[in-house]
Amino acid sequence: MTAVLETKDLSSGYHGHPFVRDLNITVEAGEVVALLGPNGAGKTTTLLAVSGELRALSGEVHFLGNKRVDPLHKRAADGLAFVTEERSVFMQMTTAENFRVGRVDADECLAIFPELRKLMNRPAGLLSGGEQQMVTLARAITRKPKLLLIDELSLGLAPLVVKRLLQVVRSAAKDNGIGVLLVEQKVESALAVADRVYVLRDGKVALQGPSDEVKTRVRELEESYLSARPARHPRIERDL
Ligand code: ATP
Repeated sequence: MTAVLETKDLSSGYHGHPFVRDLNITVEAGEVVALLGPNGAGKTTTLLAVSGELRALSGEVHFLGNKRVDPLHKRAADGLAFVTEERSVFMQMTTAENFRVGRVDADECLAIFPELRKLMNRPAGLLSGGEQQMVTLARAITRKPKLLLIDELSLGLAPLVVKRLLQVVRSAAKDNGIGVLLVEQKVESALAVADRVYVLRDGKVALQGPSDEVKTRVRELEESYLSARPARHPRIERDL
């Protein structure tokens, strides 16, 4: 079976300097793969490189079996979706309008998140952070992407909301055969829904394996977090 995503010795970074190095990451259809690691380990950089927002400095990104060097909008046209921590809803528009301009079917979105039904006429700016992420996620899932990249869906959200969002991601992967690469700070929440895990430390894969196996290697996992060096550079505007 062809992997939805396969990186081959991928290195990428900023201003011509690699930060993530020698990454060999695969995601199969229907699989949720978590990308974990401490702050500054390179998780977002990896997603940016996979999406085409950042160039590969060496190595390759294969999407649906084809090597890709093109930008995000081209990969998106072939079924790559990228959901980031920044909630990408139009704040002045209602929930219903957000679905309409996103060209997705509102009923399909409501089938995923029935709790949005009573909020269809409310401006998205007045929804809670969790509800805004539901709108974002519903739009992404109903477009039936082949590969869904998720960067920190849970930032600033209550544990129950995070659980709900991640369970939806899990079901969407299984039911629609979507391959998911999930960056998540909440390790336990991620391990609860992921099939497999990669743990990054200082830009390299420090630990990988099926979630069940990684769960039993908590000590190693903790060491990956504790021994990580602090982020070396202040976060500056991305050099895309
Ligand atoms: P976090 O969990 O804190 O979001 P992360 O694992 O996602 O961290 P990245 O955001 O990928 O880590 O950052 C990896 C390294 O790249 C860090 O040292 C960071 O400071 C650096 N970095 C990120 N963006 C840029 C940029 N635009 N220019 C230069 N360095 C950057």
